[in-house]
Amino acid sequence: MDESLPAAYQQLCQHQRETAIFSSVEHLLGWDERTLMPPAAASYRAEQMTLLAGMIHRRQTDPQIGQWLEELADSPLAADRQSDAGTVIRQLKRQYEKRTRLPQALVEELAKLAIEGQQVWQQARQEDDYASFAPILKKTIELKRQQADAIGFADCRYDALLDDFEPQESTANVGRVLAALREDLVPLIRQIGDSRRAPDIELLQRRYPMDAQQAFGRAAAARIGFDFHRGRLDTTVHPFCSGLGPNDTRLTTRYDERFFPTAFFGILHEAGHGIYDQGLRQLWYGLPPGQEVSLGIHESQSRMWENQVGRSRAFWQFHFPLAQEAFPDTLAKVTLDEFYFAINLVRPSLIRVEADEATYNLHILIRFELEQALLEDDLPVDDLPTAWNEKYQAYLGVQPPNDREGVLQDIHWSSGAIGYFPTYALGNLYAAQFFAQADADLGDLKQQFASGQFEPLRQWLQRNIHQPGQCYPAAELVERVTGRPLDHQCLLQQLRAKLGPLYELD
Ligand code: ZN
Repeated sequence: MDESLPAAYQQLCQHQRETAIFSSVEHLLGWDERTLMPPAAASYRAEQMTLLAGMIHRRQTDPQIGQWLEELADSPLAADRQSDAGTVIRQLKRQYEKRTRLPQALVEELAKLAIEGQQVWQQARQEDDYASFAPILKKTIELKRQQADAIGFADCRYDALLDDFEPQESTANVGRVLAALREDLVPLIRQIGDSRRAPDIELLQRRYPMDAQQAFGRAAAARIGFDFHRGRLDTTVHPFCSGLGPNDTRLTTRYDERFFPTAFFGILHEAGHGIYDQGLRQLWYGLPPGQEVSLGIHESQSRMWENQVGRSRAFWQFHFPLAQEAFPDTLAKVTLDEFYFAINLVRPSLIRVEADEATYNLHILIRFELEQALLEDDLPVDDLPTAWNEKYQAYLGVQPPNDREGVLQDIHWSSGAIGYFPTYALGNLYAAQFFAQADADLGDLKQQFASGQFEPLRQWLQRNIHQPGQCYPAAELVERVTGRPLDHQCLLQQLRAKLGPLYELD
């Protein structure tokens, strides 16, 4: 640290770095819980994590932070808002003010309800019993309203909750972009449904031995730029990526020997998250200039490697011969084009996490619209399953046979994560717009992928997306990098360009 900097700034940074160390310990415990921990250790682990969470919360709301920030408010450091020091002050002030506006009692009640909510939801889902989940969902919605009111908002309560996941984004703007996407996507998906052409996905359901999948997936992750010297890949039930330190990024996946895409595209997806974490500036670890800007931007990185890269024909021109070597019995008589079509199947379905690249966005839109209605009191919790099923019929033309495959399928609402869903669709939209810009800047990306070169794209992403950290909010980052605000055109064009020829659409 530069000794000439004001003492208040140095102390603020020091305090924040130490909080980041506590948080990384908490994340390490969380990673272990979801990968290696024996089941009987669960209750002691909960004690460890609750204690740490309490310590972290106390540090984050320490009145001393308020004093340092006050001292720095008029300093020259704060004046240049987009410099690294200016970003530290601006972002820590935002976070501090937001946290201290929440009454302690509400924070504790929300934390308790999140744990209870997940337990009740798990049981309700298992037994396909929405009625047993409805009371706790009502309570959750009520507390989330209180949370929004305590934090404050510009237009609607949803703004306040969205801010937890996509800082400084507005409900109105997200609503506008997603509605425009829906207008074009619903007819495109219908056209695909009417096409005479359909891939043979049986070839993905043959036997793919787990060991070979692991080696093949790991090699691909390394090839696109995930650094295994600074990270790992392990197995879990619900895959995730966790950044545990500046040189410790953990990917996880799960293997299905009878369905190739599960592990492989899961690995590319999580590696995309991991490459973002590894691309952040290490010197700023734990401080806003070295941290992810939003969940939507994080998701754009995973989606780009998974979809724009991993589901492209060029990627498989290079990788398919390697796949044939890795799975010789399975793929011997399969052609590249058959394989490429199969991994790009588009078909409306009931389950979000199994949805394809195109229909996925409609699953998100449904949740985004419903959670707003719940929060603003337009939609009673008891009517939610009916509203859910109607929207699935209207947007995707499918009807859930039960609530387990309908409204009870996701964990988010049960844990109080309202305002989270749109970040998935934002990720797809950001990814498309960034990818179009990278393609324009770097020349022909297809040609590079076809010869196994992914480093130019990774470096472009690191330079343009990863290294700015939180120096600009997501919306501004998109404009700076691509020259225009976020819209749905790039995603739509890319989907049309790929799916049009495959499905012979006019
Ligand atoms: Zn993701």
